This record gives sequence, structure tokens and C-alpha cells, in this order.
Amino acid sequence: MATTIPQSILEKLTNVTMPRHVSLAAPQQTLELDGFRIPVYHSDALVVGSGAAGLRAAVELKRRKVDVLVATQTLFWGTSACSGSDKQTLHTASTSFKGDNFTALASAIGAGGAMDADTAYVESVGSVEAFIGLKSIGLPLPEDRYGAVLRYQTDHDEVGRATSCGPRTSRLMVKVLAEEAVLLKVPFVDHATAVRLLTEGEGAQRRVAGLLAIVKGARSEDNPWGLCLMRSPNVVLAAGGPGELFRDSVYPKRCFGSLGLALEAGIATVNLTEHQFGIGTRRDEFPWNLSGTYVQSMPYIYSVDEHGQEHNFLARYYRTTRELASNIFRKGYQWPIHATRMLDFGSSLVDLAIYNESQAGRTILMDFNRNPLPVPGDEPFALGNLDEDVYHYLRNNDACLELPIARLQRMNPLAIELYKHHGHDLTTQPLPFNVNHQHMNGGIAVDTWGHSSLNGCYAVGEAAGTHGVTRPGGAALNAGQVFGLRCAKHIAATTREASEALFETQTTELLRQIQRDSQRPEALSIESVRDEIQQRMSERAGFVCDAALVPEALQAARRLNQRIAQYGVAIDHPNKAAFSLQWRHMALASEALLVALDAYIAKGGGSRGARMLCSNAGDVVPHTREGELSAFRFLSEKPEHRQEQLQVSWHNGEFSVETRPLRTLDDLSTIFFEKNWPAFLTDEIYQG
Ligand SMILES: Cc1cc2nc3c(=O)[nH]c(=O)nc-3n(C[C@H](O)[C@H](O)[C@H](O)COP(=O)(O)OP(=O)(O)OC[C@H]3O[C@@H](n4cnc5c(N)ncnc54)[C@H](O)[C@@H]3O)c2cc1C
Repeated sequence: MATTIPQSILEKLTNVTMPRHVSLAAPQQTLELDGFRIPVYHSDALVVGSGAAGLRAAVELKRRKVDVLVATQTLFWGTSACSGSDKQTLHTASTSFKGDNFTALASAIGAGGAMDADTAYVESVGSVEAFIGLKSIGLPLPEDRYGAVLRYQTDHDEVGRATSCGPRTSRLMVKVLAEEAVLLKVPFVDHATAVRLLTEGEGAQRRVAGLLAIVKGARSEDNPWGLCLMRSPNVVLAAGGPGELFRDSVYPKRCFGSLGLALEAGIATVNLTEHQFGIGTRRDEFPWNLSGTYVQSMPYIYSVDEHGQEHNFLARYYRTTRELASNIFRKGYQWPIHATRMLDFGSSLVDLAIYNESQAGRTILMDFNRNPLPVPGDEPFALGNLDEDVYHYLRNNDACLELPIARLQRMNPLAIELYKHHGHDLTTQPLPFNVNHQHMNGGIAVDTWGHSSLNGCYAVGEAAGTHGVTRPGGAALNAGQVFGLRCAKHIAATTREASEALFETQTTELLRQIQRDSQRPEALSIESVRDEIQQRMSERAGFVCDAALVPEALQAARRLNQRIAQYGVAIDHPNKAAFSLQWRHMALASEALLVALDAYIAKGGGSRGARMLCSNAGDVVPHTREGELSAFRFLSEKPEHRQEQLQVSWHNGEFSVETRPLRTLDDLSTIFFEKNWPAFLTDEIYQG
């Protein structure tokens, strides 16, 4: 019999409070320029962002006695601090009932293709240290009485390597890492938005030297926008994913990431075509992924039209009530969309059906007080008439109960508590939701130490393009921890001299641009730039994507960047300077993504991961109970594309795309203790 969890415990895991005070850094110098006074900060390593990845990097740097500074747009904001799902997942090596080994885990991590083998292995091996580090600073990962961590199966995971502290796992990670940062006296500059990377040198000597940031607290009469100079020979970009890129997005608001910032500095990006999309509640309300037990409890999913009429629309897609209900359940652990799962009445047909209903202007809801209604002419829903995997899961979790709400209560009371906390009572009200952009698998191209193509500049967490076409649920949080740790080790082992320069020219250039954008009546408004980008990305580069319309979308994105170059992005109040610059970056990032998508399609690329590339020339068509969905005929993936990556860079106002083969892994059987120890003792492992 399952144990009832007391309300106080549920509240503690839902209401995760952050440390009240962190150490605040003060500028060491002031730069006088054209009558402006610009504060200057110095550090040996500068971490941009305070999500789970950035905090891990900062803590590990400080532990290695590196003089680190964290500059963050908003402390305790971003995806790690504010997002989640029913039980947010952390994916790591596990002993699981079937045993595990690092190469098996690495191949599961890279199974979707387009992932470097060395990165997958590093994430696999590194998961142990990353995980233990979190546990030892207080992350409450659940254990059984023998000390074994409790695990379950998640998406793209056939073994059950996932674990969780509940819906707020990543927030709890931020909390324990922030507490550790407080103990270690890591200094922070809060409300500091990095807006331009500073570089010096040319060719192979080119390196990062710091950045310019807009800092709210630095605004004054002689620095109205709060521009600051942060000098550092090592910069770690941990600014998260580009949540603002898509209109239909489940990221918290104001998540811009650092793709545009990096592209502008000439840094190479990779796998920009790869994302995750999935069902979640709407961004304007409480953005949250509806994976795991939300759908494993099998609520009734329906739509409501403009006349208030209800539609049991999934019954038009699946052939039997059993198939319909079992696929709702499977969305739990096959939560993100996968193009191939739209075929053969798989679980992503649910998402396609939702897309069609939304296009018809209907609202989609899930009701936990009703079981799925039957497919016409078939038997009503019955617990005894479900696919075997579904029935076993419910039985194993003592959840063979009459109604979805009772099943959810049994399997995951925190899931109910969470929505209650945000003003929505699932026990009484149906929940509106939709399909949203949720994760960027691609990003800044990095090596196995998180080092980018710009010397001294690293990227970790969602900022980095470390994932392939798919990733097991929870692999994002793991990758952020592994690379946070690895970049700290690399920085600590590498000597880089701080630049002598004060970057007067670059600072003056940016000041002039800000001044121009503050005065030009013809400057584009932030809102118009935002709406244009978000609409284009959701409608032309979303999970349903018409391949023929991508070139036109790319041209439109290019024209937007030309207009921005000509007219600027308006700063109608000094406190809008950071947003104006971030939307310039988003415009660049959106063009980069479309450049990658266009190049992929031109190479004959097909549907993979989260995106179906629809085309009249497509070779496959999803079917429903009522026949072919010919409007969604799509191109299938070419196997050779799994063995390569597309890298996109921006130099002198031009994008370039390069196809490169995947990095491989050395022959592990040639690594031995005595032979390889010296490379560790002499730091040779950090070179090459
Ligand atoms: C709804 C949802 C559910 C998810 N569930 C899972 C899951 O179960 N398992 C999993 O592995 N992954 C999951 N993910 C993905 C995962 O949560 C993120 O990839 C991860 O939290 C990103 O962490 P991060 O530290 O890289 O970025 P964030 O946590 O987003 O942190 C970014 C930080 O950078 C700061 N910042 C941004 N721009 C700038 C700038 N220009 N200058 C200075 N600072 C800046 C922000 O303020 C913030 O502090 C989920 C994502 C979402 C949206």
C-alpha cells in the first residue's frame, strides 16, 4: 500500500525558497569616456548566468581557487529556477535492475544521431561526479532503505536511468548550488545583462577578453543605461536557451540565451535545427510541461470550439479506445514529439491532433475528473483494457484507480500541489494547454571541456550545443552539471593572461549605438521585432514545418536584420537598453537557425527529432482512423545525416554553413593506469 505524503512535505518540495543574500561584487575601476563614467570589473573567470549550469561552473571554479565573478540577468530566474514538469528529471548512470555501463549510457545519450561520440561519453562518465556533487551539497535525491537512488524510465531511455526530486528538481539544484556559492563567497553582479563579447587578436591568436554588460544598479546620471565593462580572460556563457525565439514556448518569460551574443562575436554554433517540442501549459499563465504522470494518469483530452462545443477529437485519430488511452499514457515517458512517432498510431499523433485543433481556433484541455471518452463504436475506457506496458506501470505503482485525478494523486501528489500553488485546482478544473517549444538541443559548438571556437570562451548548459537530434529526458540538466564542472577544471588548469586593454573603442561604439537607438524615431520597436520573430519561428520553423516555405522565411529573417542594421531597435527608456540589444541578438539567432534549416533541407534532410518536414514530395504520411493525413505528408530522415553536424557561423555580416563529421572516441581499451597517469599529473589531459 502506498504511503500518504504529509502536506508539509509536499509544500517544502513545491515552495523552494532561495538564499536571501549573495555576495555582491563592486567594480574595481572607472573608465571615463566621452563624459560617461563606466564601471570596470576584473576577474580571472567570468560566468554569465546563474542557472544550474552557471552556478555549478562558478562553485567549481571557486573551489579550485579561481577568482570568479558571476554576472547574471536575474538571479534565481531562468529555466532551471522557474521551469518544470510533473517530476523534473535528472539522467545519470545507474545500476538499474539490468546493470549499466558508461558506453551503453553514452550510446543512449547519442542515439538520435548528430551527436559527437566523445561528448556523449563525457556526459555519461561525468554524470557520476556531477550527481554526487549535487547530493553532497544537499540535493534531496530519493533513495531506498539500502541507499540506492530511486529511478524510473523517461523519454529516449530504455533502461530507467532517470531520477527526480519532484517537479522542482532544477530549482532545488539552483538552491543547493546557490547556498554553496554563498558559503564559498562567490561574488555576483545581479541584473547584469551581457550584451557584447570583447575579443582581441586575430586568426589563431584571437581570444575573449571580457564583455560589456548593462547593469541596472550601475545606472546614474553619467551612465544612464548602466553600461559596465567586465574584463576577464575566461568567459563562461551559461545564459540558457533562447526561450523568446518562439511564440509558442513553455520557457519562462525573458529567456534570451546567448546564441546571438556568441554569433556576433564570430563563435561557431551547431545543431541549430534540433529542439524539443511538447505539450505544456501556456506561457501567459503558468508555463509547465505536461509530461510524466500528468498524462500517465490518462485524463480526458478534448477541445472546445468558439461556440463552447466540446470535441472528443482524439477519437478521430486513434482506432480504438484502448489505443487512444494507451498513447495518452505513453506521452508521459515519450513526452517530446518525435516525427516517427506520428506514424503507426504512435504517441506523437496526439501532438499532431492537438496542432490541427489549435489551427482550427479551438482550445485544448485535459480533464482529470473524466477518463478518455470512447472512440465511436468501440468499448468505453476500462483499466482492464489497456496495452500491457500501460497496465503494468499502473499496477506496479498501485494506481489502478477509477479516475485520472485519483491515479495522479496516487502516483504524484506533487503534480497537483504545484498547480494549486499557481492558482489552478486540477481536482475541480480542466487544464488548458498546447504544444510548445521547450528546449534547444543545439547551440554554441564546444569541445569536451565546454570550450568554444573562441579562445578562452566556454559555453555550458543550454547555451552549449552538446546534444544531438534527441536526448533522454533529464540529459539537459546532466549536461549542464558535467560541463559546468569540466569547464572549471579546464580553466583552473590553463594559464591565460588578462588583457591590458580597456576597450575604449568597443565601449564607445556600443555607447554610440545605444545613443542612436534612443533618439531615432525610425528605429523599429522592440514589440514589432519580437512579434515578427516569434510568429515566423512558430509558424515556419515549429514542429510542423512546411519545407517549401523555409527559404522564404529565411529571406524575411534576413530582411529584418537588414532593417535593424539600418534603423536600429528603439530604446524608448534607458531601462529598455538591454532588451533592445537582446532583440538584436534574437534577430541574428533566428536567421542563423533558418540558415541551418534551409541548408539541411537543401541537402535533402528529412524529418527527425522534434520536427516533421512536410512536403508534397514526402515519402511517408501519418494515418488516422479516418484515413490518410495527406496535408502532413513528410520527408523521412536520411541515415547519413545522423553522422554529421551543421555548424553555422557569422563573420563580417555573412553567415556560413559547414558540414562536419562527428567527433569520435579514442579506443578506450588502450587507456591504462600507469600509462595514462602522467597525463593526469601533468595536466596534459586538458590539452588538445
Ligand atoms: C518546462 C521545462 C521543463 C524541463 N524539464 C527538464 C527535465 O525534466 N530535465 C532536463 O534535463 N531538462 C529539462 N528542461 C531543460 C532544462 O531545464 C534547461 O535546459 C536547463 O535548466 C538550462 O539551465 P541553464 O543553467 O543552462 O540555463 P537557465 O537555467 O535558463 O539559466 C540561465 C541564466 O542566465 C541568465 N542570463 C540569460 N541571458 C543573460 C545575459 N545576456 N547576461 C547575463 N545573464 C543572462 C538568466 O538570468 C539565468 O540566470 C526543461 C525545460 C523547460 C522549459
